[in-house]
Amino acid sequence: MSDLSKPKSENIVWHAETVDRARRAEAMGSRGAVVWLTGLSGSGKSTIARRAEELLLARGVHAYVLDGDNVRFGLCRDLGFSPADRAENIRRVGEVAKLFADACVVVLTAFVSPYRADRDAVRAMLAPGSFFEALVDTPIELCEARDPKGLYGRARAGLIADFTGISAPYEAPLAPELRLPTADEDIDACAARVLQALAEAGVIS
Ligand code: ADP
Repeated sequence: MSDLSKPKSENIVWHAETVDRARRAEAMGSRGAVVWLTGLSGSGKSTIARRAEELLLARGVHAYVLDGDNVRFGLCRDLGFSPADRAENIRRVGEVAKLFADACVVVLTAFVSPYRADRDAVRAMLAPGSFFEALVDTPIELCEARDPKGLYGRARAGLIADFTGISAPYEAPLAPELRLPTADEDIDACAARVLQALAEAGVIS
């Protein structure tokens, strides 16, 4: 893959903004942030992200979900599940999430994002206090019992290569801002934890 750490062309110049983040935050009613849900397939990332989005919208906060499967139908449709493709998937989503946060939207991302280095790279893109890493902490046995997309059965049968937790690694965050224990707490309680963390950090009031 080509060097993605800098632009390919040298003939581009950054255009400075005339409306700054503070003015946008005033207009939007919140300063925006990225809530990065990470965890095994079936752990509950999409479900919690959608519920948190509903709760935020009900409070008048601009919120939006970026979902792992959904971006692979468009933005990332050229990528698979090798470590290099997973890294590029997360880099692109991180850049999109950063734009949303800059637009003062609370963006909730639901990606397995199994590699610590890839998640840390996204964290490094964002201003301190704008990135909330949320570990959706569900034992693999429970994910497998839920198997909402029938993927564990297929992976166990050897029909899916590079399946996180079975034939590919998952590196849990070492110090996540949030831990969502879905074996012990229901969907509403987990979503409420997300809003509580955003409120405590002053992202929402
Ligand atoms: P992921 O996005 O991590 O692959 P999903 O959100 O698609 O996982 O699926 C999680 C499944 O687990 C759903 O069927 C959901 O209803 C169920 N579930 C049970 N308890 C919880 C909980 N506390 N939080 C999130 N999901 C839960």
